[in-house]
Amino acid sequence: SVEFTRVTKRFGDQTVLDGLDFSVKPGEHVTLIGPSGSGKTTILRMLMTLTKPDEGTITVDGEALFPAPERQVRTVRRKIGMVFQQFNLFPNMSVLRNLTEAPTTVLGLSKDEAEERARELLELVGLSDKCDARPSRLSGGQQQRVAIARALAMRPQVLLLDEVTSALDPELVAGVLDLLRDIARSTDITMLCVTHEMNFARDISDHVLMFDAGRIVESGPPEKIFNDPEEERTREFLGAVL
Ligand code: ATP
Repeated sequence: SVEFTRVTKRFGDQTVLDGLDFSVKPGEHVTLIGPSGSGKTTILRMLMTLTKPDEGTITVDGEALFPAPERQVRTVRRKIGMVFQQFNLFPNMSVLRNLTEAPTTVLGLSKDEAEERARELLELVGLSDKCDARPSRLSGGQQQRVAIARALAMRPQVLLLDEVTSALDPELVAGVLDLLRDIARSTDITMLCVTHEMNFARDISDHVLMFDAGRIVESGPPEKIFNDPEEERTREFLGAVL
């Protein structure tokens, strides 16, 4: 589970998140939607400890991620995996090594254990034949599949997806979304997605949070948010993107 309580984040004199409260239950798939600049990515970055809140608390599985002592932050942080818009693969490592690096160095798996897990995951994402390739030799869609497999190699309890198809050529988007749908269906991983793909949000989410200017303006099951939103701001946003 993930819990934000009265989380405020400022950059200079701009309040990006304003006393934000929300929680995600174990195994739940929650999608964050809303206009550009509304604070969605900042939420994921705080969970990755790439940026800190100014006020409030964040817990994962009941354990504090913020505020918390550095040791605890490291332990809690390990429960969370992230896939970025720009893949962020290690360019000078083979695909296989991209998947084994963190499990060996961070989790202490043996090379054999890590490779076994990596090969299973590459099979899951349909890239068994690319083990030895460098990321630069792969298409964007293939690189994003490797990034998804790399995140899963750490066996995270929570997976964060930040606009993972935005950098892909249109013909590669569907394959990556299909893979994520399969993962959402076949695992009990908790997922937080930021996406502009409303159809994907509609069918992957248990719950949708609509953001505007650092606040949740409306939340609910996807059928409700997409078919019958309560708030004018949600209708306006969906009218512009659908
Ligand atoms: P998008 O859909 O465009 O990614 P978003 O909802 O994810 O938007 P955020 O990326 O969370 O929005 O950004 C929220 C606000 O915080 C924006 O106004 C952005 O300019 C500002 N911001 C984000 N990171 C920083 C930073 N490191 N320094 C200063 N301002 C920042």
